[in-house]
Amino acid sequence: MSVKLFEWYGKFCAAYALEVIVFFLTTVVGAITLNISSPHELCHWAVPCTQSQTEVSSDVVLLTVLRCGTIIYTYMKLKNIWKVGSIFVVGIVCTYTVFSVITFTITLVHFLHKDLVIVSSALPVFLLLIDLSRMTVLTKHCLSVHSIDMLQDYIAEGMGTLAPVLTLDTLVELLLLVNVGGYVQIRQLQQLSCFACLSVIINYIVFSTFVPACLSVLLSVVNKNSQPSANVMLPPSWHDNRFSHTLQDEKGTKKQLFTTRFKVIICLPLFVMHWFRYSIHQGTAMDMQKGFDSVLTLTPEQFFTVILIILLSSKYLLDDGFEIFRRPSLPKITNTALHIATNKPQSNVLSNKRRVISDVDLDTSKCMRPTEKCLELLSIGSDLLSDAEIISLVKAGKLAVYKLESTLQDANRGVSIRRKITSQKLMSTEKCDALNHIPFTGYDFTKATKACCENTIGYVPVPVGIVGPLLLDGQEYMIPMATTEGTLLASTNRGLKALFKAGGVSSCVYADGMSRAPVVQFPTSEKACHASMWLKETANFELVKEKFDETSRFARLQGVMPVVSGRYLFIRFVATTGDAMGMNMLSKGAENALRWIQHKFPDMQVVSISGNFCTDKKPSAVNWILGRGKSVVCEASLPKEIIKTVLKTDIQTLVHLNRCKNHIGSAMSGSMGGFNAHAANIVTAMFIATGQDPAQTVVSSNCITTLEIIPETGNITSNNHTDNVLLITCTMPSLEVATVGGGSSLDPQNACLKLLGVAGSSAPEGKPGDNATRLAKIICATVLAGELSLLSALDSGDLVQSHMKHNRLPKNITVQESDHQIL
Ligand code: NAP
Repeated sequence: MSVKLFEWYGKFCAAYALEVIVFFLTTVVGAITLNISSPHELCHWAVPCTQSQTEVSSDVVLLTVLRCGTIIYTYMKLKNIWKVGSIFVVGIVCTYTVFSVITFTITLVHFLHKDLVIVSSALPVFLLLIDLSRMTVLTKHCLSVHSIDMLQDYIAEGMGTLAPVLTLDTLVELLLLVNVGGYVQIRQLQQLSCFACLSVIINYIVFSTFVPACLSVLLSVVNKNSQPSANVMLPPSWHDNRFSHTLQDEKGTKKQLFTTRFKVIICLPLFVMHWFRYSIHQGTAMDMQKGFDSVLTLTPEQFFTVILIILLSSKYLLDDGFEIFRRPSLPKITNTALHIATNKPQSNVLSNKRRVISDVDLDTSKCMRPTEKCLELLSIGSDLLSDAEIISLVKAGKLAVYKLESTLQDANRGVSIRRKITSQKLMSTEKCDALNHIPFTGYDFTKATKACCENTIGYVPVPVGIVGPLLLDGQEYMIPMATTEGTLLASTNRGLKALFKAGGVSSCVYADGMSRAPVVQFPTSEKACHASMWLKETANFELVKEKFDETSRFARLQGVMPVVSGRYLFIRFVATTGDAMGMNMLSKGAENALRWIQHKFPDMQVVSISGNFCTDKKPSAVNWILGRGKSVVCEASLPKEIIKTVLKTDIQTLVHLNRCKNHIGSAMSGSMGGFNAHAANIVTAMFIATGQDPAQTVVSSNCITTLEIIPETGNITSNNHTDNVLLITCTMPSLEVATVGGGSSLDPQNACLKLLGVAGSSAPEGKPGDNATRLAKIICATVLAGELSLLSALDSGDLVQSHMKHNRLPKNITVQESDHQIL
């Protein structure tokens, strides 16, 4: 109940921020102009002070200790806030502190008629008690908002969580201080208790009135992303994802529950004690009553000012102040979902019929129209329907959930609605919350939902790092790698550094051809053998090639390899595919060729367009031996000095280690194409960064690494070992890469290709396939750097140590905390 009340209150303050600020300031200024006669002595809780006025020395000591303590404590608090790493948090919290101090000082000087000497004693008490941590939590929570439209809801949620606890804390503190002030017979302590009471009250008033209003105004003014960019509504410019758990962390822990209960319980004895003391000193209470009477005595002018303030606030509360409370509060999932809006151009015919229907209005079931009406409207335009109505069509089986994007003609809205449907299916709050942590804002799903992913609900961000420069064939490249394996980039970078110092890497491509092998069936083995022989004849191959090549501007058939197994024939088509990886192109070409072959062999039946002799995305000897995609070799030679200084090892040890591990060890394990230390690591990280098909790392990671000692002169037959250098090669026969098509056309992935200077088609400026070939060479050369570095790490024994350092979170921090530490 109290949570709801404070939520409403917070929402009201945020929604009518300017009014609240003006009201607050008017009240302060108005109150300052009131002729309030305050008690002359602050120290008259109930009992007269008995301490001698001459005991100043103890006062001085007490005040000095207090001031020093305050300086240290305030410094520590501000340091912690600085550590949060957000200039907005620091700025807002500091503004809050300054404003609170001013309010406190004004109150002290004006209401209580205290001079500046007293203010200097009272301020440390205030600074000790001001609640900066709650202010930080509220600010952080507001900074995590995904859309500026949600700011009020976030402030309300923050107030709903923080204000009830603050209220309880204020009550407990006040009771405690009043009792201390009343029972302790030391004048200075009584006065400090009084200041502390005032501090607690000012802190409470400022936090619960001025703060929500100010946050709302300040963050709206500071936001630079108020306009949707391109076709996506951007999060506010100050949005900070790190703080998305702030409020959840703040509430609900067992410890907090215990302390809240404890505070409630302690209130009772404190109150009883105070009441007991109050009844003993009735006389003093009477004096206090007189004080209050004088406060309430107003001149006619002041009386009208107060009435005006009350009337104005009533108007807001009654007219439209309560309006915001009537709006349904949005569920968490829809909150973020709402604010991805695409600005599609509207057709002229329909534009006048269409109206923008606010999700806020229509997410309530009472605003939904009947299914038939919704279907009718959907045929005119999906933006005539609210999300709730589209969800109802899905539930009624009138709209397939996988067709959301194409039916709505709006990929981002489709994704947003699917998230809502999914959240309803998930039922448990924990799983719904998990969905909240799969981001989907700030992303244009148009390309992704068309060509890369169905049933989309968001995206999973993978960290991307950069290493280099890689010196390859005389050119320098900075390499993007996307990975979650700590140490990978650091290690690769070390290898690249050694190679750079040694003069770089040279590369060449010795084969190029993507493959697709359909399996066809004949009535007899003899017929299968006959077809196989027929395909091997050059003239027939030319005819098949003609049919294959006509399906694409870039796919060119290079060869056909038929293999018989009983009455089944596997026909491995191999073709160059320009800058595309080529799987779709090969399938399309092979299908067309087969159709033509079927005319020659009418009793041939196509069992499958893929007969696994291709072989795609599975380990197989055929790719290792014959190659698939680009077949690349990279080579480099390194003098012993570089191996010693950069890689901290020596040539002989590396050569021996490579033989034992990569050749003998892999042979013992029955490996196919795995004669390397960790080629897959580099291939996968580069594949993810550049939008390659990640499943093709299975075949693309085929690699044999060789290490040899050769004389510096390059004469391998020389027996002079004094100036020997290390010759390292990586041979990768099956790199399936693309700079056109698939994930390579998605914006971030395409940007990584641009970093390498190989994005898109190399035609018509260059030869089709040049970009893809260069990408394959870059990947192979980076693999070589990775091999060199890992072998060196294994030799020097620092592999485990560096993984413990770079690949594990420190023991004493949680995952979320570590995010902050990265700053
Ligand atoms: P694709 O995107 O299907 O085809 C490439 C398109 O780009 C073609 O339309 C091609 O023109 C055009 N293109 C323009 N410039 C080009 C250039 N310089 N070089 C080559 N093509 C150029 O890509 P794909 O490589 O054939 O297939 C890759 C996709 O297939 C990926 O999404 C992958 O995940 C998926 N895949 C499919 C299978 C499967 O079995 N079908 C298996 C694994 C992966 P043309 O129309 O003139 O050829």
